[in-house]
Amino acid sequence: QPRVFSGIQPSGGLTLGNYLGALKRFADMQNEGNFETIYCMVDLHAITVWQDPETLKRNTRELCAGFIASGVDPEKSILFNQSQVPEHAQLAWIFNTVARMGWLNRMTQFKDKAGKNRENASVGLFAYPSLMAADILIYHATHVPVGDDQKQHLELTRDIAAKFNHDYGVDFFPITEPVIEGAATRVMSLRDGSKKMSKSDPSDMSRINMTDDADAIAGKLRKARTDPDALPSEVKGLDDRPEARNLINIYAAFADMTPEQVLADVGGKQFSEFKPMLAELAVSKLSPISSEMSRLMQDQDEIDKILRRGAERAREITEPILAKTYDIVGMVR
Ligand code: ATP
Ligand code: MG
Repeated sequence: QPRVFSGIQPSGGLTLGNYLGALKRFADMQNEGNFETIYCMVDLHAITVWQDPETLKRNTRELCAGFIASGVDPEKSILFNQSQVPEHAQLAWIFNTVARMGWLNRMTQFKDKAGKNRENASVGLFAYPSLMAADILIYHATHVPVGDDQKQHLELTRDIAAKFNHDYGVDFFPITEPVIEGAATRVMSLRDGSKKMSKSDPSDMSRINMTDDADAIAGKLRKARTDPDALPSEVKGLDDRPEARNLINIYAAFADMTPEQVLADVGGKQFSEFKPMLAELAVSKLSPISSEMSRLMQDQDEIDKILRRGAERAREITEPILAKTYDIVGMVR
């Protein structure tokens, strides 16, 4: 059976980008029933940039609540945090010896996150993509739903699998398919149409948080940067209008429509009319999720129990795959 793996970092509160680009699709793939689905809070990835320990714990539990409130069912899917399944880190070490410096040097996420002061970035931030390859390949996952920003890391995952198979003369790790689909594979910042919306962006006005209330959502959308023109009635009219494209894509993803269908309805409208429509739609979809998140957050023991159970189920898959990997590599057991 085809197997889905994906993860989210507990590196801050969840954003609309995480919801539309990842969580909503995780729930959809689970419910389609064609896949075994495995979803992870990647806490080991989060600490590649500094995380305050207490905040990290809180963010991990809140992220778990976010998964469940978005429709990921811990019975149907395996849901856990990465650090509790040690085979991820163990396989990542093997992959650090497979991946080449030159490959990692080309990764744009590292360049973006390290910024100008690259000498001061953590070694973990540089090696992030080999851990990500391990997350996926320790399950022999075949499909990985992600946002568009992770495409380059998934290509690297394929390169690592292929080089491992080639070097050791085996056909062991699958060549994974990225699943980058839907209208909102790259939700952009509300302040800058050339930057992706991120949890870790210093400006709270740049993003909609899944825990924002109706007033905050409406306010942020009202203030979202746009150009002065009316909306076009066809998608090609969005060329060179990144902010307009972004708001149309967000609307389309929430409404399960294509951008073409949305523009057929709203083409010709001014932003002053469209933004409140978008706010109403966003609030109607997000507010039940955020109230469910706060309800779940009241029972921390229950969340921790779900995560522990998820990790046990995950290890049933990862232990034999790591053991086989060690055999292939020549580790005496
Ligand atoms: P950080 O800023 O700490 O990297 P993030 O918001 O980018 O946080 P991640 O945990 O890195 O979140 O990514 C989790 C998933 O959400 C990935 O599949 C990623 O592609 C997706 N994602 C993140 N931001 C967006 C976005 N703006 N649009 C669509 N998908 C996104
Ligand atoms: Mg990210």
